[in-house]
Amino acid sequence: MPHAYWGKEGLAVVNTSFDLIVIGGGPGGYVAAIRAAQLGIATAVIEQEHLGGVCLNWGCIPTKALLRSAEVYRQLGHASAYGLSASAVGFDLSRIIDRSRSVAGRLQAGVKHLLKKNEVTVIDGHGSLQGPKRVRVSREGKSVADLTAPHILVATGARPKKLPGIDFDGSLIWTYKQAMVPKKLPKSLLIVGAGAIGIEFAGFYNAFGVDVTIVETLDRILPAEDEEISVFARKALEKQGLRVTTGAVVQALKKGADNVTATISGAQKPFKLTVDRVILAVGVVGNVEGIGIEGTRVRVEKSQIVVDEWLRTDEPGVYAVGDVAGPPWLAHKASHEGVICVEKIAGLREVRPLDKRRIPSCVYGHPQVASLGLTEGEARDKGRKVRVGRFPFAGNGKAIALGEEEGFVKTVFDAETGALLGAHMVGSEVTELIHGFSIAKTLETTEVEMAHTIFPHPTLSEMMHESVLEAYGRVVHF
Ligand SMILES: Cc1cc2nc3c(=O)[nH]c(=O)nc-3n(C[C@H](O)[C@H](O)[C@H](O)COP(=O)(O)OP(=O)(O)OC[C@H]3O[C@@H](n4cnc5c(N)ncnc54)[C@H](O)[C@@H]3O)c2cc1C
Repeated sequence: MPHAYWGKEGLAVVNTSFDLIVIGGGPGGYVAAIRAAQLGIATAVIEQEHLGGVCLNWGCIPTKALLRSAEVYRQLGHASAYGLSASAVGFDLSRIIDRSRSVAGRLQAGVKHLLKKNEVTVIDGHGSLQGPKRVRVSREGKSVADLTAPHILVATGARPKKLPGIDFDGSLIWTYKQAMVPKKLPKSLLIVGAGAIGIEFAGFYNAFGVDVTIVETLDRILPAEDEEISVFARKALEKQGLRVTTGAVVQALKKGADNVTATISGAQKPFKLTVDRVILAVGVVGNVEGIGIEGTRVRVEKSQIVVDEWLRTDEPGVYAVGDVAGPPWLAHKASHEGVICVEKIAGLREVRPLDKRRIPSCVYGHPQVASLGLTEGEARDKGRKVRVGRFPFAGNGKAIALGEEEGFVKTVFDAETGALLGAHMVGSEVTELIHGFSIAKTLETTEVEMAHTIFPHPTLSEMMHESVLEAYGRVVHF
């Protein structure tokens, strides 16, 4: 089937019958569509907004562009530490935002090109199931076509979660979308939720002088991370002047003309905080509404579609991947699921179900955090005897040369078998290092292979080696 683009400007498609229809063109949907087409499956992908989904347009990529501006600005502020002088260093917020948007735009165009190259039919519009094997496409509420396929993949993603009784208004109370394109910087900012998204925005706004307060309901920031990492990251943020309150709940947000007063309760006495703007970053809910699953056997629990190990729903021929199919809400998890799903549909023999313990997690805050597998606490709670290794950035030659001495690498091994159970890192560029442990875990290595691995010198990656050696009392370098 030749590629066809069926856009608002008109119909350029010859066929309404496919082998696979994908609803949603984010990293779950577009990657599944491309892989399917490579396997000879006639595929259409329906996207109602932007190809690339949240990740390319409003998530992973534009935030990293913003954070890069923050990082360069921060570094310029420390120029003298490197024997340099940089006077009159300033910034232009609109150009920072423009750069972030143009990076997103470039990647969106790249996805369109890839779909075309792989002969996937791309259809602008809203897709919804209309009984078995049938999907209706509508635009502005009007039905424009009915498509058929034996396989239908739902990859509709997720949207920001609201707090009870508190809504986003887009002007004073923001979601990540408004937080990514501010017209001007607020003087003060409350971020509700200390997961990855909250911490990344905290790093961006703090770098440009905004007075940032973070409130988290659980007892620590980045609650999914190893406890030592969370504690370290919190201290680092507080050293940078951010205020962090954990074990606290935002009870109410009262809007003023150009500010918001939050009522916050927790371990301490309830208190009020008035800020210019608020970002709600308390998680996401799956986009399960308006896609026609009500009349089917597709099961939804806690706003997520329930799937089995091959991403099949309870309705034969209907699958779900990515954020709509539950946590972790990460682009690489969505894409990986998309590939597994279509390779299984194609009947490939070597398909493996997703092992969630092997999904790396990265937070691009300042400092960065990256991790994989079990935390030390989780390993102990599971009754495992563990050996734990740690190595500080301050002991690594490259880190010292870079002037990046804050952070450490921690590895957790099964004391009986030597299996790598988990790896946890905080510090500069750790998000570029974690894949080393991902490969180790995929290959099911023990400390023996990792100790035998030769790491180049001088690199930050040597800390990964040293952390393994430290777990076994064998550190050799300073
Ligand atoms: C601020 C922020 C930063 C993030 N940073 C990272 C990061 O650094 N790394 C990481 O791994 N993850 C990150 N994420 C998470 C990541 O964006 C998601 O996990 C990822 O986008 C999920 O992919 P998906 O394909 O499941 O859904 P989405 O990317 O949400 O794509 C779903 C697509 O479906 C479309 N759609 C929905 N319903 C319909 C319909 N009925 N018909 C047609 N189209 C429809 C939507 O328009 C959307 O384009 C971040 C998220 C945010 C918000």
